[in-house]
Amino acid sequence: RAEAVTGNLDDCACDVETIDSFNNDQLFPKLQALLESDYFRFYKVTLNKPCPFWTSSSHCGLRDCAVKPCSPVSSSFQPNQEECFEETREALLDWSKYDDEAQRFCVVDDEDSPDSQYVDLLLNPERFTGYKGPEAWQIWNSIYEENCFKPYTVKRPLNPNSFPSSSGGEGKTTFYSWLEGQCVEKRAFYRLISGLHASINIHLSARYLLQDSWFQKKWGHNISEFKVRFDSELTAGEGPKRLRNLYFLYLIELRALAKALPFFQQHGIRLYTGRPEEDQKHKELLLEILQLAKSFPLHFDETSLFAGDEKEAAKLREDIRLSFLNISRIMDCVDCFKCRLWGKLQTQGLGTALKILFSERQIKALPVSSDHRPSFQLNRQEIVSLLNAFGRISTSIRELKNFRSLLAEDW
Ligand code: FAD
Repeated sequence: RAEAVTGNLDDCACDVETIDSFNNDQLFPKLQALLESDYFRFYKVTLNKPCPFWTSSSHCGLRDCAVKPCSPVSSSFQPNQEECFEETREALLDWSKYDDEAQRFCVVDDEDSPDSQYVDLLLNPERFTGYKGPEAWQIWNSIYEENCFKPYTVKRPLNPNSFPSSSGGEGKTTFYSWLEGQCVEKRAFYRLISGLHASINIHLSARYLLQDSWFQKKWGHNISEFKVRFDSELTAGEGPKRLRNLYFLYLIELRALAKALPFFQQHGIRLYTGRPEEDQKHKELLLEILQLAKSFPLHFDETSLFAGDEKEAAKLREDIRLSFLNISRIMDCVDCFKCRLWGKLQTQGLGTALKILFSERQIKALPVSSDHRPSFQLNRQEIVSLLNAFGRISTSIRELKNFRSLLAEDW
């Protein structure tokens, strides 16, 4: 049963119950408040980049896949919004001087590209869109294939017809055995992607389109959709493993937030929106969240991911960086724009979390005064994606609690 995910997690000294109570009672409410602020709700993204790997066979015409863009004249903006954007742009230009491209784990969309647009994430919640079938599987399978750490420029189109359906059937075992035959398994990387996959599928089950008539749309929890994806019996034991991967992803991103604290504590780091009082309030809330993340008692020890000699660790780090670069590009092949938006954001957020975890030395060496050039920087895109990506995982953990209660009632 899906709710049977309890006890210790593999590879770390942490248990599900500790994470549940820490997240649901302490961190989740603060994070939600932060993510509603203007700094965090506007994400700049290029959504119409062509897929670099294969010719997209279909254009998603699903209504619920549409993304509502923001425009500076939109009523959802404050009157001084254009000014704010100008200020943000200046801050970004300032930061970007110190950005080291090689430190990035993701392709960051060109903010100055005429095709990039601000998207209000609150207007475009991650939820059920109806995107599924061979196209969606092709994306997931291509992402899992990155586990192989092949040279990132080599990418061949996969045959979507050879992939299994999650409703079971003969193809099911061939999916991963095919992958395993092709490459050496990198366990942590696989678990992170699987955790992200689980999170997306929890969201679509929690905000499912329950009623769709000409006068009303109703979104809510769909228990059977959740069970089909996560129930132990219905998934031959895979569902609970995927949920454990979600907790693993949570721990990795939480650890990154804790490690990023000194960066945000630096004098001069501001959350620009053009309204200084609000910015200060949100900066304080952000610091409170990061302090809370740091206080978590059972942190994952990420150094275990890079055991071995320095050369080997550097190689693995570079492999992961290139894989994330490729995953960012695969996201441009997602036909459903809403899924593409959240897929890009979450990949960038996870990439930023890994960048932080691999930059401990540089973060420790951050200058106390602003006279020295810091060797570690995060730009606005990275900060917004990091916190929003973590917000998605935190919400998934919270949703698991809701599903547990609903399943108990359903019994
Ligand atoms: P899929 O979820 O497509 O999975 C394919 C196969 O992968 C399964 O058969 C199973 O064998 C395996 N698998 C499933 N889950 C895991 C896991 N956690 N770990 C390891 N293996 C697993 N749909 C929406 O409604 N809203 C969205 O916002 C949305 N965003 C998406 C974003 C991206 C980047 C992608 C690629 C898809 C998105 N989708 C979204 C589609 C959704 O994730 C599913 O692909 C779709 O609902 C079809 O599900 P499925 O049951 O066929 O299996």
